Amino acid sequence: MVIVTVHIVEWFQTHNFAIIKSNIMESKIATAEGGTIAMTKQVRAFGTAAPAGQLKQLNIQRRKPILHDVEIEILFCGVCHSDLHTARNEWHGTIYPCVPGHEIVGKIVNAGSHVKKFKVGDFAAVGCMVDSCRECEYCKEGLEQYCEEGMIGTYNSTDPHLGIQTYGGYSESVVVDEVFVLKVPENLDLASTAPLLCAGITTYSPLRHWNIGPGKRVGIVGIGGLGHMGVKLAKAMGAEVIVFTTSPSKIEDAKRLGADHVVLSKDKDQMQRYSGRLHFVLDAVSAEHDINAYLKLLKVDGTLALVGAPEHPLPVAAFSLIPKRRSFAGSMIGGIAETQEMLDFCGKHNIVADIEMINIQQINEAYERLLKGDVKYRFVIDMASLKK
Ligand SMILES: [Zn+2]
Ligand SMILES: [Zn+2]
Repeated sequence: MVIVTVHIVEWFQTHNFAIIKSNIMESKIATAEGGTIAMTKQVRAFGTAAPAGQLKQLNIQRRKPILHDVEIEILFCGVCHSDLHTARNEWHGTIYPCVPGHEIVGKIVNAGSHVKKFKVGDFAAVGCMVDSCRECEYCKEGLEQYCEEGMIGTYNSTDPHLGIQTYGGYSESVVVDEVFVLKVPENLDLASTAPLLCAGITTYSPLRHWNIGPGKRVGIVGIGGLGHMGVKLAKAMGAEVIVFTTSPSKIEDAKRLGADHVVLSKDKDQMQRYSGRLHFVLDAVSAEHDINAYLKLLKVDGTLALVGAPEHPLPVAAFSLIPKRRSFAGSMIGGIAETQEMLDFCGKHNIVADIEMINIQQINEAYERLLKGDVKYRFVIDMASLKK
């Protein structure tokens, strides 16, 4: 397999090295002066070699930073439900070994010679993408997550530099082009900032896209990793926030997070009270549920956007949509510029995730608890534990 990217070629040209082997998976490349230079570095990580396997410590190769790259020592990494789905091949197409993690916060320890945005010592963050084609209409619009060529995911994508799969944040360090690296607001707690990189932007982007702000009544369905961020963000945007939950035990917590009203979705009378009254519903539930019950809450021209991903198709009744010209939509993370905007918004409004910190050695247990919804509201791994 021969994979030489524009960046690599540019780098060799700039540094006057001769590529004597076109396969850059070789970890050493000869220079014009007759010496060799290592192209990759071995780092410690936590991952799994098979769908049924437990996550355990393993070693992976990271490229050494080239022109526009920064090397980030990972301090904290959030645990997203997608990590578990991918590690266990539940969405199919997982490439093993799999190292999950796309809610990354860390410190820049090395920077390529053309890096402008960062310097060594800066705090930085990486979310769900590490690259995209940068040329299609969506990339040019700042919608890299919808890139026509497919975004390069932080894990389980083909790495255009090394030709192997990309490895995520359950690791010591990561090397990413600075264009896909975010700045972290100085006033925010670093560990609690990590979940903003997926859960935060996944909820921020649709709230912005559908113009949520003062005067808008917004329903948030499901209070988990995504939903709890949706409540905080919608409230900070000035909306009236109504949380829909199946568990009475979450009522007080939803109010603490900023909900103006909390509705027990199993109670028909409570649901009826909001029928035809909401401008927007953000549905963050990834289990089976009756979507029609929530579509009926929308006003004329209201939209329900899915950000949770139930395994099976959801039946939608035509008459949940037709009578009030309602829309049923979806949304996936956000572009790089919008992710920075979200982080800055969170800095300004002092918003972070509610987290439970774990050591990397507790990750398998954390996955089991995640499946039971037993976390308030996001696990974050203290990556210093990987050095133990
Ligand atoms: Zn995620
Ligand atoms: Zn593109």
